[in-house]
Amino acid sequence: MTIKKFILKIFRGTSENQYWEEFELELKPYYNITSALMDVQKNPINRHHEKVCPVAWEQGCLEEVCGSCTMLINGRPRQACTALIDGLLKSSSSNTIVLAPMSKFPLVKDLVVNRDQMFQNLIKVHGWVDVDEAADRGFGPKISPKVQEVMYALSTCMTCGCCTEACPQVNATSKFIGPAPISQVRLFNNHPTGKMAAEERIRPLMEEGGVSDCGNAQNCVQVCPKNIPLTESIAVMGRAVAKQSLKDLFSLPDIAD
Ligand code: SF4
Ligand code: SF4
Repeated sequence: MTIKKFILKIFRGTSENQYWEEFELELKPYYNITSALMDVQKNPINRHHEKVCPVAWEQGCLEEVCGSCTMLINGRPRQACTALIDGLLKSSSSNTIVLAPMSKFPLVKDLVVNRDQMFQNLIKVHGWVDVDEAADRGFGPKISPKVQEVMYALSTCMTCGCCTEACPQVNATSKFIGPAPISQVRLFNNHPTGKMAAEERIRPLMEEGGVSDCGNAQNCVQVCPKNIPLTESIAVMGRAVAKQSLKDLFSLPDIAD
């Protein structure tokens, strides 16, 4: 039986010193990028038979829920844990798989980036539902199955950064908040208790870098591993922003006087 071999070509280094390094590995059944990186870590010998510093990458849940292993795999932002090597080799004419860190986030080392800006943006849009105490108050108001269905899809966001990476409007010269936090505003503003802070969430979307900075290129929906309807969320929040602007213009109160 012939053993199939493949090459992992990996971006190495920090912001000061960058280079590419190749590792040759044997294909195993159900082998994914994370398992291959673990094998490189156990035996960090590069293609020139030199013992090198093990590759740095992040991983957490290993089941596409935490988003920490997101990287560019053959140029596409996706999670290493669900990227099967057999499939990657079959979909390419080369036996080399290229791994690089996401480019829209500050580089830490090798494949590790700092995704802090995504979490800061969630803080900016009040991306949570306030509770005033931990006491059990029983069931909350009912949510219709139709709304639940939409909210469930939105709630699967794992802040992985794929949509930010793919969005042309997120760049060094723009303040665009990106599609994921906009979609989270839609999620929390649909929650019966979350609605209480709806305006607080909409205000940051009305500023520079808010919803009007989306150029509607629709790259975000194409790369979201959770198939979150991001462009639909952007359209919905665009309407909410317009409604809030009209309310501001006519100084309309939220409740009847
Ligand atoms: S639709 Fe908007 S948010 Fe999505 S990739 Fe395009 S510009 Fe970015
Ligand atoms: S919306 Fe999708 S691509 Fe964007 S951070 Fe959430 S899970 Fe990742």
